[in-house]
Amino acid sequence: NKTELPHDTSIDVSALLLNILKSSNYAGDWSKIYTAHPHLAGQGLDLVEFTQNKFAEYGLASWNETYEVYMNLPVENSLSLLEIPTSSDATKAGVRYLNSSEPRVVYEASLIEDPLKEDPTTIGDDLTPAFHGYSASGNVTAEYVYVNYGTKSDFKTLGELGVDFTDKICIVKYGSIFRGLKVKFAQEAGCSGVIIYSDPGDDYFKEADGYKPYPKGPARNPSSIQRGSVQFLSQVPGDPTTPGKPSVPGAKRTDPYKSIPKIPSLPMSFRSVLPILEKLNGHGIACSDIPDSTWCTSGGLSSFDYSTGPNPSYQLNLYNNQSYDIRPIYNVYGNLTGTGSQPGYILIGNHRDGWAGSASDPNSGSAVLLEVARALHEITLTTGWRPSRDIVFASWDGEEYGLLGSTEFGELHSKNLKGHCIAYLNVDVAVGGTKLNVQSSPSLNKLLRESMKSVTYEEADSETSLFDDFFSRNEKIGILGSGSDYTVFLEHLGIPSVDMGFTSGPEDPVYHYHSNYDSYHWMSTMQDPGFVYHNRLAQFLGASLVKLSERQVLNMYFEEYATEMIGYFEDLTSKIPISWLTYVPPKAEKTLAVLISETKEVFDGFHNYTITMDTRTDSLQFSADNPDSVPFWKRFGLKWRILGQNMKIQFFERLFIYKKGLTGRKWYKHIVYAAGKDTGYEGFAFPGLKEALDDQNVAEFYKWTKIIKKILNYKAKKADDEKMSSCHMA
Ligand code: GLU
Ligand code: CA
Ligand code: ZN
Ligand code: ZN
Repeated sequence: NKTELPHDTSIDVSALLLNILKSSNYAGDWSKIYTAHPHLAGQGLDLVEFTQNKFAEYGLASWNETYEVYMNLPVENSLSLLEIPTSSDATKAGVRYLNSSEPRVVYEASLIEDPLKEDPTTIGDDLTPAFHGYSASGNVTAEYVYVNYGTKSDFKTLGELGVDFTDKICIVKYGSIFRGLKVKFAQEAGCSGVIIYSDPGDDYFKEADGYKPYPKGPARNPSSIQRGSVQFLSQVPGDPTTPGKPSVPGAKRTDPYKSIPKIPSLPMSFRSVLPILEKLNGHGIACSDIPDSTWCTSGGLSSFDYSTGPNPSYQLNLYNNQSYDIRPIYNVYGNLTGTGSQPGYILIGNHRDGWAGSASDPNSGSAVLLEVARALHEITLTTGWRPSRDIVFASWDGEEYGLLGSTEFGELHSKNLKGHCIAYLNVDVAVGGTKLNVQSSPSLNKLLRESMKSVTYEEADSETSLFDDFFSRNEKIGILGSGSDYTVFLEHLGIPSVDMGFTSGPEDPVYHYHSNYDSYHWMSTMQDPGFVYHNRLAQFLGASLVKLSERQVLNMYFEEYATEMIGYFEDLTSKIPISWLTYVPPKAEKTLAVLISETKEVFDGFHNYTITMDTRTDSLQFSADNPDSVPFWKRFGLKWRILGQNMKIQFFERLFIYKKGLTGRKWYKHIVYAAGKDTGYEGFAFPGLKEALDDQNVAEFYKWTKIIKKILNYKAKKADDEKMSSCHMA
């Protein structure tokens, strides 16, 4: 019930914002503050206060919110290599040695990273040990095998080749899929524990090619360890004891093991795991005997031959002690109150918690978020401007364990969000490299392309824009999967979302993701001296935000969305086996072939609807920009027509929310986009159809085609109605 202030549309807010950010850049200052000490989920209360004060200083009404989440903190861990004497060893040693048949510890692996004198935040006693969020406690001794990336297909391939995983410790390398799913597949295969290490074969700059490791050069520091969560992200994110419900005091909690592992896991550096892997050389299946694989060529360790093992002469003892408890985490918010001339609000957020100093992940994003708030405040101070819609800034806690802060927030405030939130803009790793990466709901693609054009990428010989650079490497803006805080907004609530940041490319120094070396020193000396890319991202994010907050008719377009959907549907239906076409489920009449062709017709109607929507958006915006073109007796009505159109735009994406959710993971409710069930990070379109194809399940394919048809038909029909009504008018 705010009083509405006049909204001054003559101010070119975008231009002002870009000018402010081009002439001043405090990102390095914010980075220094955010990265001074490690701040895991629930830690770093000084940074809660700092963020809230900064929001207030920049004119935002600021507050914080606590959630009580089930999570682990590390107590102690160790990993030892044991030699198991064979009977011939015992004979050699002579039976008179009583202990000769006892396993002997031949190597204790280091599970910490080297302190570096050049990099002050890698030294000290407040460093976070390397461990996995949501890892199980355990103490297991077993033979061990190497399973490549630990994907579902890696386990399947080796299983078919006769590798027995039962009670083995499974060693996999990072990469390809979300790490928690590696542990899930290992657990399902029967492994008793998991080790995940960073293989230099996946880095662009390698010591083997003559590059010096960090801090002397761009290659990976051999002691670097990637921490990270091992929750089963694609099942359900958030607090594993409160799926779908907020973790508020007194919340009812359920068994967490549907979405976190029961077996222990440890992260390791390649240097520490190498003596263990070398013992597998020549044992089990040779990498060259693995069909259709790159197992031999993709590895970067020259003294390990990438055989699977096991070697019966060696075992591992994996000890992992985690303290589980219900602990508080803290989100911080700041509201930039708009003039109230347009309803709804735009949400923009970044997580604050990190595994170590976390200069890149997430604090490059935290610095960028503050820069955007600072620039908007300066515009207000100099011109009196306020956005036409509210803008809510969010600093999430607990992202690293499982998108905790954002998910619990989304679950607690779902009604408000669904009713009033127009879009969510996410920035997590703003700068992990120099290559822009953008993923979005297609309705925002047009706006994002426009704001990319307004930002300079390189000043060099000929000036290039972010747009030029991005589209020289990408055909289109990508789709969202999961792995950051947009997940609840898009995939649980149906709010259009964007994620953006500069990621690591072939020319960038190795990004020590989730390691102590993701530090202020690394960022300021190797990755982003002068914090130039931070500044570019603030410009891109700020420009996108302003476009969304300023336009009277919301800047979202749907024809592109419909076209993308049609493409996905064509692609997925072209992949079904011919025998499926005649499938008719019990009690139904139509074959799958008929259902598919009817659905294609519905898609045409839906496509027409989106064209009508976009045309109306443009013509209403034209009228708003050129009021003189509107006859005076229609001007009063214009305001209401804009409001009505904005409502339709705002609720468009909500259409795709299917209450019952995806099969076997009902928290994920968006029928068009979801985190890949077996990838976690990578997203897939029409997940219902995609999974039915993966599982070769025709009944599921039929079911999801029917759901898609029904949901789209609702709008396709509207297109007809609206054409009718415009006929009447004419
Ligand atoms: N960004 C975090 C990661 O990739 C997300 C963790 C999670 O979603 O569980 O590790
Ligand atoms: Ca929850
Ligand atoms: Zn992050
Ligand atoms: Zn992270």
